[in-house]
Amino acid sequence: MSEQPKRTEIGEIGEFGLIDQISSKFTNKNSSTLKGIGDDAAVFGSGDLLQLISTDMLLEGVHFDLSYMPLQHLGYKAVAVNVSDIAAMNGLPKQITVSLGLSNRFSVEAIEELYKGIQFACEDFSVDLVGGDTTSSPSGLVISVSVIGEVSKDKVVYRKNAEENDIICVTGDLGGAYLGLQVLEREKAVFKENPEMQPDLEKYDYIVKRQLKPSARMDVIHELGDLGLVPTSMIDISDGLASELFHIAKNSQVGITIYEDKLPISKMTYDTAVEFNMDPMTCALNGGEDYELLFTIGQTDFEKIKNHPDIATIGYVDKKANGLKMVTKNNNTVSLQAQGWKHF
Ligand code: ADP
Ligand code: MG
Repeated sequence: MSEQPKRTEIGEIGEFGLIDQISSKFTNKNSSTLKGIGDDAAVFGSGDLLQLISTDMLLEGVHFDLSYMPLQHLGYKAVAVNVSDIAAMNGLPKQITVSLGLSNRFSVEAIEELYKGIQFACEDFSVDLVGGDTTSSPSGLVISVSVIGEVSKDKVVYRKNAEENDIICVTGDLGGAYLGLQVLEREKAVFKENPEMQPDLEKYDYIVKRQLKPSARMDVIHELGDLGLVPTSMIDISDGLASELFHIAKNSQVGITIYEDKLPISKMTYDTAVEFNMDPMTCALNGGEDYELLFTIGQTDFEKIKNHPDIATIGYVDKKANGLKMVTKNNNTVSLQAQGWKHF
């Protein structure tokens, strides 16, 4: 009998393993390619003003469920998650392209709704819609957005330059989008059982909005610019804080220590986690889709952000040999696990 060719399941190496495998086969040929695969956006150009590009695809049934995701919000979110990757490079978004795969389930009016959301996002983030592609899709909706941004050469921030003793900062609060999703899934199940029941989402307003209509922290990028503060490293929190800390640690070749009692969690997130019998800290560490920014700054810059109401300092950059740790509320030290989102 002839031997079967080897078949490796994608789940065995995971999303990041797969991306590493792809990128290991390519070397950049153009000197203008300053950063290829492996950061929030690619960086290219040759002068003082560099260009950024990033792309993100959202699939019905994987990233969104139209039974509770209004099309307008979906359009907004598809743009915001891309803008967030430009923010993570300390850049300004300028243009987007939008590509759609559509089944005949969708009417012209439905697509108008989707584009209303895209238009709101274009206003909020000052970007121009400059193109895209439209194809038919056998079933669900696919929306892929690419964003082009710019950043001056001396302001670009990568994942790779965090240094020992830097301070670790996080914007906003964490875990809300994940718990918003839990609430929406629960209400969907209740509605399926009993279509007479109208979902009461008002009580969960903030976290449901975190899930359905996330923003990108361009406000913080503008403020850092005004303060004359360039972080040493930065990433946006799309897969959960723990996972992003691992990216910073790996790319910067450092260790990380964070403090449990410093993690920013809103009261609604905390209360909802308790209601769902979940640990609020686990939700903050591993819940995805908050689209906040995680960045490191030199100690001399601490003064500039220490009173900022929307930036929390959660720990410090350590020696690589010390690994990734969290000091718990009871003063125990535990090693951090990066769960992140696993779609495979
Ligand atoms: P983010 O979460 O910031 O959007 P990802 O984890 O999706 O970033 O991607 C990490 C890096 O891998 C990025 O540089 C991205 O451009 C690259 N990447 C992702 N998928 C592919 C692919 N199929 N082919 C080539 N590069 C990819
Ligand atoms: Mg990112």
